[in-house]
Amino acid sequence: MRTKIAVAKGDGIGPEIMAAVLRIFDAADVQLDYEYVEMGKSYFDAGHSTGMTAAAKETIERLGLLFKGPMETPKGKGVKSINVTARKVWNTYANQRDFRSLNGVDTVFSKAGIPINLTIVRENIEDTYGGIEHLLTSDVAVGRRIITRPGSAQVIRYAFEMARRKGYTKLACGHKANIMKLTDGLFLETFYEIAKEYPEIESSDIIVDDLCMKLVSRPEMFQAIVLTNLQGDIVSDLCAGLVGGLGFAPSANIGDNISIFEAVHGTAPDIAGRGVANPTALLLSGILMLRYLGATTAAASIENALLYTLEQGIHTGDFGDRSTPSANTNEFADAIIANL
Ligand code: NAD
Repeated sequence: MRTKIAVAKGDGIGPEIMAAVLRIFDAADVQLDYEYVEMGKSYFDAGHSTGMTAAAKETIERLGLLFKGPMETPKGKGVKSINVTARKVWNTYANQRDFRSLNGVDTVFSKAGIPINLTIVRENIEDTYGGIEHLLTSDVAVGRRIITRPGSAQVIRYAFEMARRKGYTKLACGHKANIMKLTDGLFLETFYEIAKEYPEIESSDIIVDDLCMKLVSRPEMFQAIVLTNLQGDIVSDLCAGLVGGLGFAPSANIGDNISIFEAVHGTAPDIAGRGVANPTALLLSGILMLRYLGATTAAASIENALLYTLEQGIHTGDFGDRSTPSANTNEFADAIIANL
């Protein structure tokens, strides 16, 4: 059965990498139809305060699934990020980011023979991302951090369910409850309440600074980690560094009614329009989306073709052996298609 999804090409390198990924999807004969939606910086500039047209909003809400290129955050005080707005509008409360070593993508850990395979689940709506900030005086700024029990419970339950689905044996909660006793304390307390429902999964907690140190020294200790929004955002970029950088970091924003799949990286304005961007993170996000839709065979065949292409040493200019010539976005996609 074919499934229709909404697609937003995004800004900067977005249209280039989205075209490459959809070309790979078509070559793999994924059973998807696309409805393109008007969303991004140019729609914000044209007066749509959420960065999308009413028709785009209606389409995404009808289809329940958005495959999205990166979008530029308009500059200026009081202007909200289109990406953060989209997550809030549709209550995509769980941000799942998968990080794994890929053959052909050299890192300190791959060279040491330590494979990395871990998932960060980040709370996606609450915390300091409410943008509740004000100046008390010209020298004193105050921001509010909101953590709720229901908001914490829904993302923590998602993390345990994901761990169970993936056959993980342990889940850690990263936090700073030693200092932020009420906010992070509430998140941690909720973690252990929900952990009681998953006795087969070993639950533990770790203070976020210690977590960062352990992630860069012994990343193999962890399978999955759930965190509040800001700490999760920072820790997940650290994890991207462990596996080769932002070009290899996919993400899913999961809600009960609408889910958004996108790369962790942004619009890369420094290389936009040159056709040299790495489409891997968006492709890995697409593979996550196919698995979410139950299209496991198509997901596996695209993933195998990608892994084989990387093993062949074919790479875009942002990674790989500098002594071999790099492929541009389209050449990289062609190589994956040839390996399907
Ligand atoms: P960025 O991720 O766009 O770029 C950081 C660096 O990584 C740049 O040097 C860039 O060239 C490189 N890079 C990123 N993706 C790459 C790829 N696929 N291939 C090769 N190199 C890649 O971060 P930034 O410069 O801080 O942000 C630029 C814009 O993107 C901002 O407007 C920001 O708000 C937005 N942004 C959007 C999202 C999103 O849509 N989810 C996420 C992050 C940033």
